[in-house]
Amino acid sequence: MGSAGASPQTAVVGAVIFLGAPGAGKGTQAKRMVERYGIPQISTGDILREHVTRETALGMQAKAIMDRGELVSDKIVCDMVASRLSNPDCERGFILDGFPRTVDQATWLDGLLAEKSYEGKQLAPVVVEFQVSYNKLMQRLTGRRTCPDDGSIYNVHSQPPRVADTCDLCGAKLFTRKDDSDEAISVRLKSYEQQTAPLADYYRKKGSLHVINGEQDANAITQAVIKTIEQR
Ligand code: AMP
Repeated sequence: MGSAGASPQTAVVGAVIFLGAPGAGKGTQAKRMVERYGIPQISTGDILREHVTRETALGMQAKAIMDRGELVSDKIVCDMVASRLSNPDCERGFILDGFPRTVDQATWLDGLLAEKSYEGKQLAPVVVEFQVSYNKLMQRLTGRRTCPDDGSIYNVHSQPPRVADTCDLCGAKLFTRKDDSDEAISVRLKSYEQQTAPLADYYRKKGSLHVINGEQDANAITQAVIKTIEQR
């Protein structure tokens, strides 16, 4: 991190990019980093889902594409990210969860981050890739249940809520994402293999890639992510 000795809640963290297939645990770990560092999780999937719920023009355009499990256009997501990163809450850093997802998005992001400083400091991004096997991803995606109110993520197989279909924290009824259907899952995993997996090589060549075994216990993964961020 940029400020030696600073507490995590005031330290300069810079850009942290989470790479990994759908279901690799990016969202769960991003929420834990938000808690530790007090920096925002920027999930392009969440921002798009908000647009869909609010029925904005962008949401109407994106909905069918997302339901099929395909990727929304680079232009739409890059514009969304540019606008979100200009928010003052990104001053010490931010976690990008689900962005970039194509090499074109990554190249665009490089240009944007090259201009960016964090409380006056220039920092290269830290890229963390969560590696999870195909069978495990399928189990996680088909079992995933999400709280519509606070975003908590559960899994009926590995991390069920105390009361079936009910959020432990706020009592809301959990829902299954539409794109967690068998058909959409297979499209999403294919699009990951074809369009997003090459990003690992892209960042490896730049020397910024850190690979973490995403099949470990969630707390062990969190410790590995913290170590990676703080060793920068
Ligand atoms: P996620 O919640 O990250 O799994 O994203 C849900 C869906 O939103 C994806 O299947 C895509 O349709 C869309 N999406 C999210 N992030 C991106 C991105 N960076 N590029 C293109 N489409 C995206």
